[in-house]
Amino acid sequence: IRRIFPFSRGNSDGDKSMKELLGGKGANLCEMARCGLNVPPGFTITTEVCQEFYPEKLPEELLAEVRNAVAGVEAEMGLKFGDPASPLLFSVRSGAAVSMPGMMDTVLNLGLNDEVVVGFAAKYGDRFAFDCYRRLLQMFGDVVLGIPHEDFEAKLTALKAARGIQYDVQLDANDLRSLVAQYKEVYEANGKELPQDPWEQMFMGINAVFKSWNIPRAIKYREINKITGLRGTAVNVQTMVYGNMGDTSGTGVCFTRNPANGDRELFGEFLINAQGEDVVAGIRTPMPIKLMADIMPGIYAELAANTTMLEKHMKDMQDVEFTVQEGRLFMLQCRNGKRTGTAALRIALDLEAEGLINKDEAVLMVEPRHLDQLLHPQFEDEKKYVKDVITRGLAASPGAAVGRLVFSAEDAEEWKARGERVILCRHETSPEDVGGMHASEGILTCRGGMTSHAAVVARGWGKPCVCGCEALHIDLKSKVNGKEIVLNEGDWLSLNGTTGEVINGQQALKKAEVTGGDLGKLMAWVDKARRLRVLTNADTPEDALVARTNGAQGIGLCRTEHMFFSTHERIAAVRRMIAEEELDSDHKLEALEDLKNFQRRDFEGIFTAMDGMPVTIRLLDPPLHEFLPQEGSAMDALCAQLASELHTTVERVEARLNGLREVNPMMGLRGCRLGIVHPEITEMQAMAIFEAATAVVKAGGHVHPHIMVPLVATTDEMDHQVAIIHAAAAKVADASGTKVPYKVGTMIEVPRAALQAGLLAQRADFFSFGTNDLTQMTFGISRDDAQAKFLSHYTRQGILQTDPFDTLDVIGVGEMVKIAVERGRATKPNLELGICGEHGGDPSSIAFFNKVGLDYVSCSPLRVPIARLAAAQAAI
Ligand code: ADP
Ligand code: MG
Ligand code: MG
Repeated sequence: IRRIFPFSRGNSDGDKSMKELLGGKGANLCEMARCGLNVPPGFTITTEVCQEFYPEKLPEELLAEVRNAVAGVEAEMGLKFGDPASPLLFSVRSGAAVSMPGMMDTVLNLGLNDEVVVGFAAKYGDRFAFDCYRRLLQMFGDVVLGIPHEDFEAKLTALKAARGIQYDVQLDANDLRSLVAQYKEVYEANGKELPQDPWEQMFMGINAVFKSWNIPRAIKYREINKITGLRGTAVNVQTMVYGNMGDTSGTGVCFTRNPANGDRELFGEFLINAQGEDVVAGIRTPMPIKLMADIMPGIYAELAANTTMLEKHMKDMQDVEFTVQEGRLFMLQCRNGKRTGTAALRIALDLEAEGLINKDEAVLMVEPRHLDQLLHPQFEDEKKYVKDVITRGLAASPGAAVGRLVFSAEDAEEWKARGERVILCRHETSPEDVGGMHASEGILTCRGGMTSHAAVVARGWGKPCVCGCEALHIDLKSKVNGKEIVLNEGDWLSLNGTTGEVINGQQALKKAEVTGGDLGKLMAWVDKARRLRVLTNADTPEDALVARTNGAQGIGLCRTEHMFFSTHERIAAVRRMIAEEELDSDHKLEALEDLKNFQRRDFEGIFTAMDGMPVTIRLLDPPLHEFLPQEGSAMDALCAQLASELHTTVERVEARLNGLREVNPMMGLRGCRLGIVHPEITEMQAMAIFEAATAVVKAGGHVHPHIMVPLVATTDEMDHQVAIIHAAAAKVADASGTKVPYKVGTMIEVPRAALQAGLLAQRADFFSFGTNDLTQMTFGISRDDAQAKFLSHYTRQGILQTDPFDTLDVIGVGEMVKIAVERGRATKPNLELGICGEHGGDPSSIAFFNKVGLDYVSCSPLRVPIARLAAAQAAI
């Protein structure tokens, strides 16, 4: 295998397409060198060597290859590594395929020792030489030998205090010489030593950089950013250039466009007489890059020319590191710059207008998370609240929320009614809490994962939510204990649903800054590029309208049970319906009639809001006991009340309701099984749908109801439900004299249904994949418990790369989808296929749905623009 790729001005076998092998930094160093930019010569050791390295030993062959590559650089530079007469120094730099800023390690000034520094000083002056040496001692000590960074800082701070100076640059040669001596004492105190052999330094440095691939903060960073499947880091060994050679030298970083707002300007910072890491370390306040135009006009012009060339060449905004050594500019790094959502949008449109990229490339340049940012309110300045962060949970639903703390859904509603902004904090939420959740600015829970009730509901509404904050101990009576902070009801709290941070106090917010015009323009390109239609999951006319504004092309999932929860009256009617045993009792009929009326009005609203577009309505799905209170005392009160309403005994009501409890409710009496055991519920719902549709048609509207039967496993189940639906349609058509066209379809969410798709397609006008349940049932993992109990361990250990409830498990669950698509379409070529699970809003899952040939995805109203973008990116 080839382990090493050298680069020098005008020359390299590597190039920018080789990021997997050379890392982003290495590939781009090679590319810049090929372009003829002034890159200090060096070489990249590949990411494959990182794999050879583990478990922690440099491959024997590498040592000779490195010596050989160094010889090449020596020849080019006319200097020699370890030679006091003409010393050559190197940096050893990390760099993986995906940039992980500041996560891994880099060591500068390798090759100095007690002897070389003397020669170095003779050549370039004492001050400079000892400045480099103390930097090597500190970085090598910290990065390679694990000596605490603070030990060195303490010496430096004490020295500056003793000398009465503020900045490192004010230290003179004697100060730096004494600092070197003091740093050696730090080594000694830690039982360490700087190897005097430069080669030993080199190999220990390379070793440390490979090792930094697996330090906890790098692992954590990859976990948070879902970076998986990389080989490791590459190592770049590069000739040192010196920004610390006096006032004609310096170092800086710059972006070719403003990364905050996208303005076309050179944006960045510069420090005179400094080495690379000083800029980031914030040792002195760097000056804005534009001031360079006055101080070093020639260099500034060259930098501007280089970066303009690079941006054109890379066809994207660039983030560049450079160093100036005695009036000569060196390029040290370039990469596509990280940017905010606002900037991403502006830059994509501008680059298209400038002719650098086409419309499809512009669409690819705006990432889903950028769009997400644009659509949610944000904190004014995330840096400002760092000291107020109390704890961190799962970033379940993005955005910033600020409000006063309440601990029950009822309180949330009550406070909201008084005009307060509240954050609802619960152990976990249940469907009973939805009113209070809706009244809250944001939701915080101690238990539950990314698909817990709180998370799903919050995302549906675009409300910030932080879940599974296990560090929080809630005393539901009145207070919550954070780390050392005790928060009481009514205290101000801020939630960052994008990062999972829980922050004390009332942090300042800013509105999402979207200039309608720009976003509109990009979204028009997006819509032209995509094949998948994007529908929405909406249960109310308000949600439907939001989704429509966001570009939804219909409703892919209307969950009727959510309508049952929306008021106390409705829950009461549902409970009466459940508690009454006698099918034809007046109580039962009355309860059903009440519910039908509620539903009819809702459907009328939704049909009207979605005029002309399909509305897919799912029949009642959850196990009935979800409509009952969880706490014993509330249950007792309910039984007493129902007994008096239904003129029966408390014991009978209790027996009936307790009879609803199941050991495995998720695999129990729910979905179409409910409609088969209680056909009156299916009939009531179908009647409500057709009556509403007829009313809207009579008022001049255009209605396309698609009725969807959940949790079907067998053809007979489907036949049973379809018959009830057709009968209800006929009944309403007869009574009203108006025939409304409709479709009946099935959800595919049980593996058996996927396997039987060929036969089910004979009975279904459409399939909608319920990928939440399909994942649960295919894996045999409970989506309610799995995250907390073991899924997080799985993802941390790499047993699963991602949570299958977040991102569709393409090779397993995806296979189920593929089978159903093939078998369904074999029976009925024009079978309409969609997906309505949580995955409908997840970009990488959308790419898969595009590939297997679905017709649409359906997601929550606020995810609609993101799904449109992801669908377009999948199609390009
Ligand atoms: P990171 O990935 O954390 O930015 P880098 O490897 O880019 O780490 O290096 C850290 C700093 O050191 C950067 O400012 C970089 O420009 C500077 N640097 C790295 N190599 C050299 C070199 N050969 N000469 C001068 N400065 C260097
Ligand atoms: Mg860098
Ligand atoms: Mg389901």
